[in-house]
Amino acid sequence: MKKLALFASGNGTNVQQISEYFIGRGEITVDCVVVNKQNIYVIERAKNLGIDCFYFTREDFYSTDKVLDLMKQRGIDYIILAGFLWLVPENLLKNYDHKIINIHPALLPSYGGKGMYGHHVHEAVIAAKEKQSGITIHYINEKYDSGDVIFQAKCDIKPTDTPEDLAASIHTLEKTYFPEIIERTVFLQTAIELAKSNVHSGKGGPFGAIITKDGKIIAQGTNSVTSTNDPTAHAEVNAIRNACKELNDFNLSGCEIYTSCEPCPMCLSAVYWARIDKIYYAGDQNDAARGGFDDSFIYKEIALDKNKRSIKSEQFLKEMGKEPFEEWNNKQDRIQY
Ligand SMILES: [Zn+2]
Repeated sequence: MKKLALFASGNGTNVQQISEYFIGRGEITVDCVVVNKQNIYVIERAKNLGIDCFYFTREDFYSTDKVLDLMKQRGIDYIILAGFLWLVPENLLKNYDHKIINIHPALLPSYGGKGMYGHHVHEAVIAAKEKQSGITIHYINEKYDSGDVIFQAKCDIKPTDTPEDLAASIHTLEKTYFPEIIERTVFLQTAIELAKSNVHSGKGGPFGAIITKDGKIIAQGTNSVTSTNDPTAHAEVNAIRNACKELNDFNLSGCEIYTSCEPCPMCLSAVYWARIDKIYYAGDQNDAARGGFDDSFIYKEIALDKNKRSIKSEQFLKEMGKEPFEEWNNKQDRIQY
């Protein structure tokens, strides 16, 4: 279970949406809300949601470890800035590297920086007669709106749109994407952490994968080729085997796989055979190639004429090869997959 702390400075619409999304989802829970102002509506929302809410002063944030201590004491894994308008202090940045996530109501790097928040952003975008705006979900660093971007989504702006119209479009995007992108980030980071720990365990290559269903992690897998003498024991294949065991089913429809690296052709095929709905991956083929795991040649081989592949394949006993299929097709109680 991963715990989120939501930091807010105002009305708390995002706090409401994130909290509601994760109720009953299983793997991620909103543990508490942290505010830097009194008498703001988000405090009321937290109360109604039954979530503990803590108020800290500027002094608490920037001159003490009180906030960090609270995060540690409650076992917080991620800090989500849900309309929080101050820079995050250094002690939190240091302890939550790539674990503090913000949403900005524009397409960064445009319309970001100090003073660019809420309606100020929308007014500037409309004044500049932009044709599009959107949201940027990004990690936090020591400067306003300049951490690594995780995700962006766009919306069109009509020539007649007012800043209020744009605000409404942005709210729709926030509601649609923010909770889901938080979840996706947590899941993919989990797969990447598995990959990193596998390097040090010595069990195999630097690959990790998890399989989820309805927001719950049902299985995980890491590469175990060298420790099990199994060249097919890639992270995704191991995760698929574990998920099938867990669900007692060979069909993983309704599941998603999060993998630290783009699947190789074998794993991609396994994902297809398992009927998994969607793949999320972090590193890609080029990253793998730099680690000595160049599978691009297999993709090229597949595209080649059979006779031109480096491993020769030859058809033999052609007629007899039809027999198992005839028997299969005649079997009344066969289990199709
Ligand atoms: Zn693979």
